[in-house]
Amino acid sequence: ATPTALMVGTGRGAQLGILIKGLEVLESTRRVDTVLLDKTGTVTSGRMRLQEAVAADGVAVAGLLRLAGALEHASEHPVARAVAEGARERTGTLPGVTGFANVPGLGVRGTVDGHRVLAGRARLAEGAGIALPAGLRAALAAAEAAGRTAVVVAWDGEARGVLAVADAVKPTSAEAVRELRALGLTPVLLTGDNKAVAEAVAAEVGIDEVIAEVLPEDKVAVVARLRAGGRTVAMVGDGVNDAAALAAADLGLAMGTGTDAAIEAGDLTLVRGDLRVAAEAIRLARATLATIK
Ligand code: ADP
Ligand code: MG
Repeated sequence: ATPTALMVGTGRGAQLGILIKGLEVLESTRRVDTVLLDKTGTVTSGRMRLQEAVAADGVAVAGLLRLAGALEHASEHPVARAVAEGARERTGTLPGVTGFANVPGLGVRGTVDGHRVLAGRARLAEGAGIALPAGLRAALAAAEAAGRTAVVVAWDGEARGVLAVADAVKPTSAEAVRELRALGLTPVLLTGDNKAVAEAVAAEVGIDEVIAEVLPEDKVAVVARLRAGGRTVAMVGDGVNDAAALAAADLGLAMGTGTDAAIEAGDLTLVRGDLRVAAEAIRLARATLATIK
């Protein structure tokens, strides 16, 4: 559902696939000095794959994948989709879930085969009073050091395994970051993912500033803090978890490949989800404004 939008008024804008909601946005676009980039689905493809499954002592990997996969099948998060797909490939049909709950920025909970299962960040398990045994702590640390996102799986009050999923940086992201810098803008990676993964991705695309482990509701607070510090902030994102920050930023750029919530919250939509077009949009807005004035 694309909002009522008009193509930026040049052949180039249309060709690039930039949708703009109103011309008021051009003024803030001109003043932008900082660009917050969401990681998953914005800088990276968001198409994650299950790379590894480590089960706790006495737990079968197939059983771990069956329960984790069934639970994650009920979630649309890219991490969840990777787990569900990987589990289905390895174990076949997955059972159903009851009492499913999404815990934004942390993971999911639900009942599968009569077990109370949770899957997500270590913080989710810790919050439920579940400690990780040494073997799983080591697996988690190894996955994160390798730049992967670790998913802790627990059921019936005990941690049962760690899954590692990984996502590739989009081939165009590094060039996009160079183009943003060439426009005099400071790129900042903003993500709910862990610091090690965020720093690995940032290094790969040439971003120096990383704000990681930010809960969805706190992304808005980051935007507010930067604005209060005198910065004019553009935010680029794709997820439901980015919508509030996109709305709060001086300029919100939504990935057209992302969720409706993000597209509705943004001022501009990058139809093809190519981050280089974010830089192009800012350049174009500056040029268009210069023509109007
Ligand atoms: P991002 O800002 O990278 O798009 P989110 O705020 O959506 O990420 O989520 C933050 C982190 O919470 C994810 O990187 C992942 O570790 C964890 N997480 C969120 N949802 C799930 C889920 N359904 N299953 C497992 N982990 C999840
Ligand atoms: Mg995202």
